[in-house]
Amino acid sequence: MQSNSIPVLETYRYTSDRREVSLVVWCIHCVKWHWHGAGKAPGAGDGHRVAHCHDDTSPYNTGGYQLREVGTITAQEMKQHARLNKPKGRRLPRMIS
Ligand SMILES: [Zn+2]
Repeated sequence: MQSNSIPVLETYRYTSDRREVSLVVWCIHCVKWHWHGAGKAPGAGDGHRVAHCHDDTSPYNTGGYQLREVGTITAQEMKQHARLNKPKGRRLPRMIS
């Protein structure tokens, strides 16, 4: 994979109970949803963003990623997705050999 290619991630529009609109993107490296500001119209928030990764080893930290809005999502769907994708058990500490 070329180091200068910026990944495009499927992004969903989420509207909170208080009618605040965000874009959410599932990060396979952090195993979390990352939240970004949304434009008013669908697709208006698409484009290059700085990664919101907490995982220092995430390759997204280097060049960020591109958002591409593909639909809407509910809080329930986000929770369900996170539950299905969470890592099995705790990560073991790295072995020092
Ligand atoms: Zn991340």
